[in-house]
Amino acid sequence: NFLVDLPKTSNDELGELAVSLKELARDLNFLKKERNDFLASISHELRTPLTYIKGYADISLRKNIEEEEKEKYLRIIVEEANRLSTLIEDLFELAKIDKNTFLIQKQQINLYELLVKLQIKMSPAFKEKEIDLTINCPRTSSLHGDPARMEQIIFNLLDNAMKYSPKNSKVEVIVTARKKETEIIIHDNGNGIPEEDLPYIFNRFYRVDKSRTRSLGGTGLGLSIVQELVQAHEGTIRVESKLNIGTTFILSFKTYGGEVN
Ligand code: ADP
Repeated sequence: NFLVDLPKTSNDELGELAVSLKELARDLNFLKKERNDFLASISHELRTPLTYIKGYADISLRKNIEEEEKEKYLRIIVEEANRLSTLIEDLFELAKIDKNTFLIQKQQINLYELLVKLQIKMSPAFKEKEIDLTINCPRTSSLHGDPARMEQIIFNLLDNAMKYSPKNSKVEVIVTARKKETEIIIHDNGNGIPEEDLPYIFNRFYRVDKSRTRSLGGTGLGLSIVQELVQAHEGTIRVESKLNIGTTFILSFKTYGGEVN
């Protein structure tokens, strides 16, 4: 911290060095704070489901409890245990990304086939909420990326679109294939995101409505993982949203690997 107080004594090289060191110290302090905040969030997020599990397990063990009540508590325990495993999986995913130990194996992917596969995979969840998932993608649409990671990116965005949309609404995937870049748009007519929250939604653990997203099983890590994976593909992601009208995520990736002829 002494570096922050380092005075700029002169306008020569020494003075410049003092300024650089000051800036470096500021960056390091910022990183330290970010790391501490992240660790605090992790322990909070892990502790909450554990508190529920322990509390409801204790009640369920009481002698005078009715069968029906007990079943209700056991369901909560299972739900919270599921939340814990999702959280741990997401944290592992982020740790791998942070350590750069995850591999992106790029190849040409048929985007149409990938989207149809996802549509089938996700259809039970969409059916349950009576949400219509339509895919608007040229059959020959191709993209340079890692198939499993690309599926993970689009799955997460579709899962959010479904979670944050009311029953009986519509979710649409629109692909625009250009020579150099391919754009994937995921659009819903759901809750939308307030303007003041938009700059933060890719931050780790950020959730717009903590209690609502909690009941939907969210961890607040999904979009930060999506953003890291998009960046690992040298792609871009942006969001447009209007409260109570809907949300659109716009992804853009290189159409081909290497040089385009
Ligand atoms: P979560 O696990 O809570 O869904 P995410 O990182 O995936 O976490 O998303 C962060 C927050 O952004 C969510 O909690 C939600 O409030 C908001 N959000 C994400 N996608 C949508 C969407 N399609 N419509 C409305 N809100 C969304």
